[in-house]
Amino acid sequence: MSKERPDAQADAAVRRLDDETVASVAAGEVITRPADVVVELLENALDAGASRIDVDVAGDGRERIRVRDDGRGMSPQDAELAVERHTTSKLRRGASLAAVDTLGFRGEALPSVATVATLELLTNDGGPRGTRVVASGGPGADLVEPTGRGRGTTVTVRELFADAPARRESLSAAATEFARVSDAVSRYALVNPDVSFSLAHDGSEVFSTPGTGDFDDALLGVYDREVASRTVAIDAERGLDAEGGSAGDLVLRGALVQPSVTRARREHVYVAVDGRPVRNARLRRAVVEGYGDLLPDDRAPIAVVSVSLPDSWADHNVHPRKREVRLRDPDAVAAGVEAAVRDALSTTDRRRTEDLSMDLDDALEPLSEAESAFEDVDVIGQFRELYLLCEADDDLLVVDQHAAHERVNYERLRAAVDGETPRAPVDPAATVELTPAQRAAVDVHRDDLAALGYEIEPFGESTVRVRAVPAPMGRAPDPASVADAVDALRRGESPDDGRDALLKDLACHPSLKAGDDLGTEEAAALIERLGACENPYACPHGRPTVLSIDEAALVRGFGRRGTRMD
Ligand code: ADP
Ligand code: MG
Repeated sequence: MSKERPDAQADAAVRRLDDETVASVAAGEVITRPADVVVELLENALDAGASRIDVDVAGDGRERIRVRDDGRGMSPQDAELAVERHTTSKLRRGASLAAVDTLGFRGEALPSVATVATLELLTNDGGPRGTRVVASGGPGADLVEPTGRGRGTTVTVRELFADAPARRESLSAAATEFARVSDAVSRYALVNPDVSFSLAHDGSEVFSTPGTGDFDDALLGVYDREVASRTVAIDAERGLDAEGGSAGDLVLRGALVQPSVTRARREHVYVAVDGRPVRNARLRRAVVEGYGDLLPDDRAPIAVVSVSLPDSWADHNVHPRKREVRLRDPDAVAAGVEAAVRDALSTTDRRRTEDLSMDLDDALEPLSEAESAFEDVDVIGQFRELYLLCEADDDLLVVDQHAAHERVNYERLRAAVDGETPRAPVDPAATVELTPAQRAAVDVHRDDLAALGYEIEPFGESTVRVRAVPAPMGRAPDPASVADAVDALRRGESPDDGRDALLKDLACHPSLKAGDDLGTEEAAALIERLGACENPYACPHGRPTVLSIDEAALVRGFGRRGTRMD
């Protein structure tokens, strides 16, 4: 089949841009690594209105990248034109670039990919049959044929850079290239919570998001529960001031992870402008500044902030790969972002810092994961039967003993359900009343409940008999906790999620907690066990377990000249 079929353009939605428009779109698409391909394909799928996008990568991506969407698809003519240069359905002759509200507009991605790889499109725009297009070694289709495929598009890219040794040479190790792919999918998934994304690598799922429209849910997909269970929604509109009066509204949406979870660098601050994830140091900094003194020094938050600006406030046509944006008035936008973040956080739990005097404020921070567990920690006392005070080298540690217990319980429960969970008999058996939905779920989750250590018998329409309860800590919870267990299993989408939620709930169950007035030995044992945890620094629901105050803070607070060691 010939590579030029200009007659296909007549009745197609995809058209060739005129030379003048071509000249005005910033320099061409440059595909330098697998993640660039993934980004272009993701943007096309989003532009096609997909509600679900599945990305599947083999090796570092050079072997195979496949992006499948359920978007509007392409007609046979459009599919054929799409792999030619400067053909697009998104920018019309004479239309203003500033008014483009799609992620793509240059019509260069697919031909650029075809130049450095073998590209296959399978697509269907809702017609009776689909179309298969193959392009390799340059723009233009090598093959166009009918094929079976439901509505949507699957793009498969193989043998990336097979004929481009220089590109190949400049790639990093496979793990690094895949990490870039994974970051790219995360960025798009986090700022498009209404779309369900999944990423698979060599056949196993790396993460997925549910597409519920909630930023929290997307965060939970990309990060683990520890991170995502404590978020604050951001949902604000603020007037933007420009010279000569109001210029319209800055609309902000997103989710802010509570400052008890932090990171060393700002790369977990995701910013999107008009739906496009962008690298913009000014806006990232604005988010960080919005957290203000809630963040320990030199720590960065995890946050997703999606900003929509009035027309003509952002120019996305400045970077060859559109990863950067030029803002008409960066300071005004940054000020709006910072204020919105601060407002959203001001309603959250600030106890961690508020109770302390100014100088101690700065020093009070959750220990970071980088610091090793509590080897040389001595318990020196207990405060209000809630906190254990401990000495650790130059630091005074304050341990929230309930949170610490919960963490220890949780990890031990988790270890226990991997093997045999110790059980404690309930004798005589306890009768527990359940709602009809809970009662029905008992039958569904019979095996999960047994694995968790509950021995249960159905008993009547709305009751069960509990003969044994899990006792991993040597303390047995109330038999009625089976109702919590059933609820947690019902909430979870997969049995694993349900189980994890259940373990967290159980770990925090009051009857599993040790007495409040801990003796010195018990306290030391608790600290030691906490130190042995995989993640000793947060309770299962993400609150910190340990705060540290270093000696330097006391020196400042008391106006001394130096530490004892100086
Ligand atoms: P651009 O996105 O700048 O228009 P591309 O080369 O990425 O340029 O794509 C060319 C055209 O192919 C798009 O304008 C669009 O009409 C069509 N297209 C590409 N990918 C898809 C897809 N996943 N679903 C539907 N149409 C697509
Ligand atoms: Mg595109």
